[in-house]
Amino acid sequence: MPDTTARLLIVDDEPSIRTSMSHVLTEIGYGVRTANDGFAALRELRQEVPDIVLSDLNMPGMSGFELLTVVRRRFPAVHTIAMSGAFQGDEVPSGVAADAFYQKGSSIGSLLRIMEALPQMEPRAAQLCSTTEPVWVERAEHGSSGLPYAMIECPECLRSFPQPVGSLLCLILYEASCVFCRSSIRFVIVEPADRAASQVLQRKPAEREQTPAIQPQFYY
Ligand SMILES: [Zn+2]
Repeated sequence: MPDTTARLLIVDDEPSIRTSMSHVLTEIGYGVRTANDGFAALRELRQEVPDIVLSDLNMPGMSGFELLTVVRRRFPAVHTIAMSGAFQGDEVPSGVAADAFYQKGSSIGSLLRIMEALPQMEPRAAQLCSTTEPVWVERAEHGSSGLPYAMIECPECLRSFPQPVGSLLCLILYEASCVFCRSSIRFVIVEPADRAASQVLQRKPAEREQTPAIQPQFYY
C-alpha cells in the first residue's frame, strides 16, 4: 500500500490536470497542494515542505526542469517525480533531477506504484532549509550601465541577477527583492578579494576614511 499520509505538491500549468489529480489523490487520502509553475511551487515550499513534489516539466515562468533542480539542491530529502506527456516510458529523462518519472496520461494506478516504490522517507526535521541567512556578494565595479553592481544568487529560486549597489557600504546588512520570484533577500557586500588587498596596500592615509572599513558599529 502507498503511504497515503504523505503530503504532495502537484505542479502543473494546466488547471484541469491540477484539479483532476488533486481530486483523485485527495480521495485516496494524500494531503495535496497544487501550484501552477515553479515560482508558485517555491512559495508553497516556503509555507510547508511536502514529502513529494510531482511536477510537470514544460511550464512557463519556472519550468519543471529548473524547479526540480532547485528542489534537489535546497530540499534534498524531498522526493521528486517528474511528469510529462513529451517523454515515453518510466525512465527519468536525461538531465532531469527527479527520483522517478510519470508519463502523463498513464493510469493513476501506475502513479501510485511509482510513489510506493520511492525510497523510505527521511525524517521531516531534516527537510527544513533556512533562506533567511544573508548572502555575501562581491561588488563589481562596472555593470552594463557603468554603475557598481553585485551579482546576487537568490536563495529561494537560485537564479542570479545584478543588483545595483551604488554607494552601499561593505559589511552592512541590506535587503533586496529577487527580480524573478520576488522573495526578500538579505545581503552583505564584500570587496573583491584582490581589490580589498591592493587597497590596503596602496591607499594613502587621507583616502582611507572615504572607504568603509570594518568598524564595531557596523552590523557585520
Ligand atoms: Zn528568487
